[in-house]
Amino acid sequence: MENVVIIGSGCAGLTAAIYAARANFSPLVLEGREPGGQLTTTTLVENFPGFVQGIDGPELIMNMKAQAQRFGARFQYSIVEEFQTENGVIRLKVDGQWLETRTLIVASGASARYPGLPGERELIGHGLTACATCDGSFYRNVPVCVVGGGDSACEEAMFLTRFASKVYLIHRRDTLRASKIMADHALANPKIEPVWDSVLTGYLKDDKGELRAIGLRNVKTGAENELELKCVFSAIGHTPNTKPFEGKLDMDTKGYLIQRQGTQTNIPGVFAAGDVADPVYRQAITSAGQGCAAALDAERYLVALE
Ligand code: NAP
Repeated sequence: MENVVIIGSGCAGLTAAIYAARANFSPLVLEGREPGGQLTTTTLVENFPGFVQGIDGPELIMNMKAQAQRFGARFQYSIVEEFQTENGVIRLKVDGQWLETRTLIVASGASARYPGLPGERELIGHGLTACATCDGSFYRNVPVCVVGGGDSACEEAMFLTRFASKVYLIHRRDTLRASKIMADHALANPKIEPVWDSVLTGYLKDDKGELRAIGLRNVKTGAENELELKCVFSAIGHTPNTKPFEGKLDMDTKGYLIQRQGTQTNIPGVFAAGDVADPVYRQAITSAGQGCAAALDAERYLVALE
């Protein structure tokens, strides 16, 4: 029987691991499908307090993990398949085996969304991706596009200008949602060309199955056209990773976990932290703060059980 199991190894999960480990609970962290979470797919993080010159996302995550390990947190590359509770015991099916724990911190984050057009699944990795940091360097001296109008879209577009000959920024409205500083930076970059009021209508492939162009529709005029490019970078937000908890943990209409008191979910001993429960702020620092709160809530719960 574990005392604390943490699902997810992004900012929220790792901060929870540091606190739970320092409280001597030797937490088990199930790292999930995307170990390290969203910060591992970003470059310089300039708004995490304490780093005057910023810090690379992957480095910040590696440091947090090492810090948690220093205090005794254990890590396992596993994906949770099922979740159950029975007489106050929380049970997780992990890699085909059932694991039992007194408390669970769900910090499984959120995954990138794609436009949802036919033929999309086969294109992922062949001209469609959601990670400029991971795949940008494959597209040197060719045109690419970023879909979306938020901070992620601007950040991805700016990063891609290092490699691509041109970066179309395709947005469904005529103003960016991104913060002013990010939007100004992106729009001032001569390699970034905004395509306003436009949505994707389809992917056009060459005979090798690679992307050669996209179909676009102007939502104001209805005009349709094609844009030749080699890769679409999707930056249209994220979906919370809550599948194993459907019908068991309370969620909002978009699938985000609902916290009741502090980070407590509707099931005693199960806590939620970070992007999986946060459709509003979704920052590295707010996730870290929630991870801390969830570990403190779990600690209080365990002490009350004794
Ligand atoms: P976001 O702010 O939710 O923006 C998503 C964008 O995608 C919006 O512009 C939205 O259009 C568009 N969109 C959504 N669904 C679409 C669809 N089906 N088709 C076409 N476009 C669609 O997401 P985000 O940019 O990933 O940012 C998430 C959070 O992380 C935000 O709080 C952001 O501030 C933060 N973030 C911060 C940084 C940083 O500070 N360095 C970097 C990245 C992200 P509408 O505008 O029309 O809704």
